[in-house]
Order: sequence, then C-alpha cells, then structure tokens
Amino acid sequence: MREAVDLRIVPSAERFLGTVDIDLELREATSTLWLNGTGLEVSAARLEFSRKSRVARVVLEEDRLGFSFERAVGPGKVRLHIEYRGSLSATATEGLFRRRDGDEWYVFSQFEPTDARRAFPSFDEPSFKIPWRLTLHVREGDVAVSNMPVVGTVSEKDGLKRVDFAETPPLPSYLLAVGVGPFEIVDAGVAGRKHTPLRILTARGRTGEAAWAATTTPRLLERLEEYFDLPYPYDKLDQLAVPVTMAFGAMENAGLVTYAEGLLLRKPEEESIAFRRLYADVCAHELAHQWFGDLVTLTWWDDVWLNESLASWMGTKVIEGWKPQWAARAAQVVSRREAMQQDRLAGARRIRQPIVTKHDIVDAFDSITYVKGEAVVRMFESWLGEDVFRKGVQRYLGRHAWGNATTADFLAALSAKAGRDVGPAFSTFLDQPGIPQVSVELVCAPGGAPRLRLRQEPYRPLGSGGISRPTWQVPVCARPGPDGKASRACTLLTEATGELALDGTACPDLVVANDGEVGYYLTRYPRELLRPLLASGARGLTAAERVGFLGSVEALTLSGDLPAAEVLSFLPAAARDPDRHVVETAVAVARSVGAPLWGEGSRPLFARFLRDTFGERAHGLGWKTRSGDDEDTQFLRRTLLSLVALEGEDEGLGAEAVALAPRWLSEPKALDRDMVGVVLQAAARRGDPALFEQLRAAALAATDRERRRELLHALGAFPDPPLLDRALSLTLGEGLDPRESIEIVWSAAQGAKTRAEAYAFVKAHFQALTARLPPDLSALLPQAGASLCTAAEATDLEAFFRPRAGDFPGGPRVLDSVVEQVRFCDAFRSAQQASALSFLSGHGGR
Ligand SMILES: [Zn+2]
Repeated sequence: MREAVDLRIVPSAERFLGTVDIDLELREATSTLWLNGTGLEVSAARLEFSRKSRVARVVLEEDRLGFSFERAVGPGKVRLHIEYRGSLSATATEGLFRRRDGDEWYVFSQFEPTDARRAFPSFDEPSFKIPWRLTLHVREGDVAVSNMPVVGTVSEKDGLKRVDFAETPPLPSYLLAVGVGPFEIVDAGVAGRKHTPLRILTARGRTGEAAWAATTTPRLLERLEEYFDLPYPYDKLDQLAVPVTMAFGAMENAGLVTYAEGLLLRKPEEESIAFRRLYADVCAHELAHQWFGDLVTLTWWDDVWLNESLASWMGTKVIEGWKPQWAARAAQVVSRREAMQQDRLAGARRIRQPIVTKHDIVDAFDSITYVKGEAVVRMFESWLGEDVFRKGVQRYLGRHAWGNATTADFLAALSAKAGRDVGPAFSTFLDQPGIPQVSVELVCAPGGAPRLRLRQEPYRPLGSGGISRPTWQVPVCARPGPDGKASRACTLLTEATGELALDGTACPDLVVANDGEVGYYLTRYPRELLRPLLASGARGLTAAERVGFLGSVEALTLSGDLPAAEVLSFLPAAARDPDRHVVETAVAVARSVGAPLWGEGSRPLFARFLRDTFGERAHGLGWKTRSGDDEDTQFLRRTLLSLVALEGEDEGLGAEAVALAPRWLSEPKALDRDMVGVVLQAAARRGDPALFEQLRAAALAATDRERRRELLHALGAFPDPPLLDRALSLTLGEGLDPRESIEIVWSAAQGAKTRAEAYAFVKAHFQALTARLPPDLSALLPQAGASLCTAAEATDLEAFFRPRAGDFPGGPRVLDSVVEQVRFCDAFRSAQQASALSFLSGHGGR
C-alpha cells in the first residue's frame, strides 16, 4: 500500500485543494471502501480496478468517508483517486492550519493523534505505516517543506510552482508534516554518521533568533546515534517554528520537527538560561522520537508510553551526558514529585491505559505518560544495569525498525538481553496506577548483616478514601550510610512484605532506602531512622536523594502519617541546602503544605514563617542578576524571590518590584528575562491602579507573544476587586486573542485573594468563554477551581462542571482531577491545621 498526496496551498486563503491516489490490495471483493476523513468536501472519486475506472458514490460519517460502487470490486490491486477541498483554520492547531506573523500568512500541520484525516483521506491509524509521496503547489515566493527533501520544482501557471518531495520510508499518517510560507532558513550544517543536513526554518525576519538551536541540535543528534548505535533514520532534519497562541509544544514529525516558536527561537539578548535548557530538553526529546515513535511506531495509541516515556527518558540521558553540570537527574526527581501529585489520585491513569474513547487518546498525553513513565523506565534501567538495558533497547529498535511494535515487543527485547523475564515486574508499574509506599524497618542482630524489613502498600493521601491496588513488583535498592561510603543492595519486592540484607556488618545509624532516588516509590522511615535525617538536613544523601526524601516527608504529611509540624520544622534546613534542586523542592513543599492555610486568619502567620525561613537567602540574591552568578544561582533567584515576595508578602521585595515593573516597561533590559514574570506579579499584588493601567496598555500593545503572556499573567494578580474584575473582563472583550487572554484567569485562580473571583467568573461566563476558546482549552476551565479547598467547593465544582465537561476532549478527566485535589485539600486542612498552627505560633514566639 502507498499513498500519493497532492495539495494546493495558498496560506492567505481559507481553503486548500487536494488530490490523493491510494494504491491498495483488496483481499476480497467489496462494494464499499472506508477511509478516515474529517471536514473534507469530496468533489470526485473513482477507483481503477483491472484496467477499468469506476465512479464512486461518497458516503459521509462523523470521521469517515465511504466510497461505494455499483458492483463489488476486488480482490486484487486497485487505485483509489479522490479530489477534495479542505479548510485551513486560523484558530485551531489541528490538521492543516494557518497563522499570521507580521504581514505574512504561513501554513503548518499538526496531525497527532487523529488529525491527518482533516488534511487528506487516509487510513489514519498508526499501524498503517506506508510510503507517502507528497506534492505541493504553492506560490512562487513561498518555501514548501515536508518530511523528505525536495526532488523537483517546476513553475506552473497563476504564479504557482509545483514542489515534489522524495517518497518517504514507511510512516504512519500522524507523522507526516508540511510547512508553506515565506520562511527564512538557517543552515545548521551537517551532523552524525550520515552527515545529515540540519536546518531551522523561521518566519520572515527571525533567523537571528535561532542561534542556540543551531549550535545545540548537532550535538544532541550525535549523542543519540551513539547510544542507539544506529544512524539518524531520515535524509534531513528540519526544525520549524510555529507561531502559536495556545497549548502546543513540539511535534516529532519524521525529518520535520515543529516547535511552538517560543521553544525554538529567542532574541540573542533575551537568550536566558531557562530558555536554553528548555530548548535542549525539548529538542533531545523530539530527536529521540525519531527512533522511538518514528522508526519504530506504536501499533495502537494505548502504547503511547513507548513514544513518550522512552523519548523523555532518553532525552534526560542525553542531556545528562552532554551537560553534567545541569544535574538532569536531580531535576527529574523534582518533576517526578509533580507527576506523583497526579498519580496519588483515586482516578489516576495508568502509564499504559486502554484507549476506548477519543477522550482517552487526549488524556494519554499527560504527566503520567511523560514523567512517571520516564521514572519507571529509569528504575528498570538501573535494576537491569545500563549496559543490559541499552542492548535491550538496541534489539527492540533493530527488530522493529520501519515497522510497528507493542509493549510486549519492548519487554521481550529487554528480557532477551537481561536473561530473565522482566515483563511481570515492569507491567505492575505500566498497567496499574498509583504510587507504592515502601515502609522500612532496620533489624540488627549481633554478628549478622543488618537487614531491612520491607512492606509495600499503595500511598493514600488524606481524603482519598480507600484506594486499593494490587501489589507492585518494586526494585528496592538501599544502602547503609552516607553517599560514597557504602554500596547498595537490591531486591525485587514482589509481595506485600520482604527483606533486604544490607552491605556491611555493623548496625548503621543512617539508611538510604531508595538509593539514588531511582525507585518510583515513596519511603516511610520509622522514627529512629527519620529523626537523624531530619536533624541533619539529610546531608549524607545525594542531591537527588535529598529531593526524594523531602518528597517522601511531604507525602507522609499529606497522608496524615506525620504531623504537619514535622515537615515545617525540616524546611529551614532544606532552605539552606547548597543544592538548588533541594531548595526548589522545599519551596514547592512549603506551598503545598501551606496552601490549605490560606484564607484563614492564619495566613499572616504562614507568610511570616516563609519570610523567616527563606527570606534571608532571597534578600541576599535580590531581584537583579549579578556578574559572576552561576546558572544555579539564577534559577534559585527566581524560585526564592517568587515565594518570599508573593506568598511571603515581603514588604521590601514588594516595594522594589513596584519600582522595577514600570522601569522594565520602558527599558526591557532593566531585568533578566527569567525574572520579568515574578517582578510583574509581585508588583501587581501590591495593587496600584496606575500600574494596572500601564500593564493593561502594555499588554494590548505588545507584539511579542511571550511578553504579552507575562503581562496578562500579572493582570490576573491584582487583588483589588474592581481591578481584578476589569482584568478578567479582558478575556471577553475585543483586542486580545482569547487563547492568550485566558492566562488572566489561570493567574487569578492561583492567588489566595483572587481565586474565588476567578472561579465565580468562569462559572458566570462559561458559555461566552467556551464560545471563544478552542475545545482543548475549554476542557481545562475546571482548573479555575484547582486552588479551592473546601468540601462545599468540591461539590459545587462537580455540580457545575459535570454536565458540561464531556463536551470537550479530555474534559471529564480534568474535572475528576480538580475535584479530587480540592477534597484532598479539605481533608488535609481538617486533619493537620491544628498541628501546623501550633508549630507556626511557637515559631513566631522564638
Ligand atoms: Zn514526545
């Protein structure tokens, strides 16, 4: 089977013309052929069979096109020829869509998971992996790109030209891509074993913003080839910037990766460290997909983890090797904490979730698939050994190159190289949701090796009711003693309880029950092991282990196993930690434990605790970058100043922000790019009406999308009700793109003094908002209530959104998750408020 697609695309037009010729072999005679097709208007269709041409009658269904014939055709070879028209949306990011940048229009594509059918009739499922031949008819002045190199260009009438691309290797429809418009091209040289040509395509006048991408991409590509011991699979690699105004990251189309422009392009003077790392992370992930997903494609969407978990794991690995000083592993443990916040919900998805409805496909692209999936892959890599795991990966890619594969294929390849069946253990993490909590108990008998008694159970936060899960098969690795002093011992905990003999003979006073924090589990230490760790600031642990330890202590507080006072009393030590990932986690934990105290008379107490704990360090750093600051210091500045100025309500920092914000408006270089958002928000919280006017005017006038986003975010932070009301109303007025102005709602929904208004606003204007927003953003609207914290509010969310959530893709799951988080918050406050308050009062008296 193969398909030729011929498209006539003029970006300024709202429609495009298409023709496809599909070569098929029919196994049996049939009178109707069904293909996928959505929103396409077929003008002619005929079938060639045994040298005769038959006209087809077209039958339309929701997502399908049927072609029926008077008499049955086949078996044998046939060619189906279809002529049609389709639309180029200026708002949605699905199928073929157009965007304006400056005075010019451009056309892009986004087909994953099920939108290739909006661009051409096809068998739009990943197992139909076939060669494609693309031809584009575009204006003489436009550049046309697709997955493969151009093999011919011919002028045509009406100022058009015909561009033919080389036939693709076998690809599923969701990985095809096109770009048409007056792009400019940055040549990034060649890289790797096949001297693959690399280019970056930008909208007109933007090539100066591609420097970081151009220098980084070749290094990442080479490292991937080295790990896989396989050359980059395609003939060229283009990276294309898409000007978008909504949730869209990047897409791994074979040979033509697309990025939201903010991820790929940045003016040299604004090329901040956060931008550089984000680009490198995303690029490593997308390039890893060229093997995981493109060369070997999932057979069906329930295995989407084979794409996303593996690409995320590989991306981190590549970055870790390339820039060890970035501490990608510690950063991964930081993001894992966020994935665990989803995974602790009763309705959590599994990594490998069966796909039943269209909602399920949308849901599959979440932090469980990306971040938990990455952590689980990493855990099994560590358990089997990096070399064995790598050989398994190479076997998997080698056996299924250019074809499709399933989870079973991946596990079989690993098992073959490991010499044991890894499927049963791996599957307990892939096929069931939730987080194992492993309790440890140290047993020392005279003369014998010290042992750990292990017990696993599903982690249950307060308010979650009784989550029951079958047992996991958990690779548990532990060591007695500080980092570098003792070696680890491992066991596979397959039952509810087990034992692990530790290295050495003496009874240790320190045990690290998750060596390297590689295991995807929370640790529950007994008092006698917990106390010395808390007292010492967990200094005998590595940075990643300290991040994990803090997460475990937080989790035990949220489940009611530890009093809130315990985690609060540990935060000052964590706040002084030399590693910024630990400090960032301490900040996140302070927020999550502190959130339920908002709105009570206790908020000033908590704000004072934050100032006492984090304030000195925040003031020491100040708002402005200093020469000689290393990158970690710069990241830390943003995190600490945000906490102390916002939740900590620090007077001095707030006043400085009020002075800095207007200065930045007239002189953007007055602030480091990464600090702008925090400064604006801190200034907005002080509520000055004149500043509100300045920010509002600047938001309406801004031409740079990222700058506009930060201004809109700040507008949602003004606590004064009349100003907040005016800010929220901007989401309904003219002058701003609703996909961008919704940022005001998200911002207000996070603030202690603004969240109730944000929630009320979304309910009051739900119809108007959903009429303006694309469906995938409408699906997120329940998140306006995500910071609420009472049972009554959870009930209200349920009552208002339940009848509406199903109208938007992924909406029901967003609502489930928000409602459950609000219930957790309520239960946590009821159980832990007394402990937290008594600690904070005592703290204040010191
Ligand atoms: Zn991906």
